[in-house]
Amino acid sequence: MSAVWHPFTQHALEPAPPRVRATHGAVIDTDRGPLIDAISSWWVITHGHRTPEIMAAITETAARMDQVIFAGLTHAPAEELAEALIAMAPAGLSRVFYSDSGSTSVEVALKMALGFWRHSGQPRHRIAVIEGSYHGDTIGTMSVGERGVFNAAYDPLLFSVETLPFPQGDGAATLVAFEVLAAQGDMAALILEPLVLGAGGMRIYDPQVLAGLRAICDRHGVLLIADEVMTGWGRTGRLWACDHAGIAPDILCSSKGLTGGAIPLAVTLASEAVFQAHYSTDRARTFYHSSSYTANPIACAAALAQVRLWQALPMQARLDALATMQAERLARVAADPRFENARQCGTIAAVDLKVADAGYLADAGPRLRAHCLERGVLLRPLGNTVYVLPPYCIDGDQLDQVWNAVLDWRG
Ligand SMILES: *Cc1c(COP(=O)(O)O)cnc(C)c1O
Repeated sequence: MSAVWHPFTQHALEPAPPRVRATHGAVIDTDRGPLIDAISSWWVITHGHRTPEIMAAITETAARMDQVIFAGLTHAPAEELAEALIAMAPAGLSRVFYSDSGSTSVEVALKMALGFWRHSGQPRHRIAVIEGSYHGDTIGTMSVGERGVFNAAYDPLLFSVETLPFPQGDGAATLVAFEVLAAQGDMAALILEPLVLGAGGMRIYDPQVLAGLRAICDRHGVLLIADEVMTGWGRTGRLWACDHAGIAPDILCSSKGLTGGAIPLAVTLASEAVFQAHYSTDRARTFYHSSSYTANPIACAAALAQVRLWQALPMQARLDALATMQAERLARVAADPRFENARQCGTIAAVDLKVADAGYLADAGPRLRAHCLERGVLLRPLGNTVYVLPPYCIDGDQLDQVWNAVLDWRG
């Protein structure tokens, strides 16, 4: 018996998991054979497992430094990474706050937004969210995320938010609802996952809607928080999902692919206005937030190596090629009557299993996952949504193996 309590795992139902021995490229080697990592190990691996440049940066930095307190001290990996991030981020973001997970980066974003309004002398605290969103599993991030079976037990602890309908088509209903709310003049921030709602089922909406929401924020002084924890670093076919809409948020959260998936790190990028609201000789305006491992130098060096790959490699061509490879295979699945709602955003492709009854629905995901595991493919459906979100180094044969495993399924 193992002493480990695994995440999102019902131990009463699930068999003992394969044991990982090594990772490389798009592959995870286990005691039951190799697996193609078709979900980038929960969306963190970008270039590939153990990308040499990133691992070298980790080794090199670890030979010189480990964790150091980041209040009152600074170091080159954090300084250089911050500078590189600002150069690549949507325009207007000028400050980088470090933390260690996507959830924490969102908590930081929410605190920055409320701090901004309080220190601006007109406290606003209402937060608007999009129906079906996911922003993490801490109390604050669950509060701004979709309510359901995943967090029902904690509902009494969650704060209330204003929920906008998921943007369908041209998003008119969402935009109208937001305009009405924002016009009330007390909305602090809108937080959203730009373009793709990940954990909510890889639901995709139009960049024009994102641009429309940005315009409403501008009209009513509402801060826009873009949670790019999943969508950042090329997943949607551009560096940032916000780039598709040509917009910049006031606050941007990044984690997951930030270090290429090698090691935990997160950042919250803020506009100069958000920073300046906290900038004062009055200590009460200090941004009172820290994690013990803030700006871990080894993690920052890994992220810097990841960023340098973006600068050195023809990343746009690589993303475009992967998107094309995904589209070709998705078309085959879309033609299969057992599936519906085939959709794609950049490197992410998803399809829904048609399900007749709810009991089957509860079961289909885990059974499809087990089926793929036997075929050397790691997938993890979200309910009845099967999605493929691979590392960028995956080749055509590996991607065929992934989609063929899905097509081979006989229920
Ligand atoms: C995964 C995710 C988070 C949470 O990140 P963690 O590192 O798991 O805490 C937040 N927002 C989005 C959009 C995510 O996909």
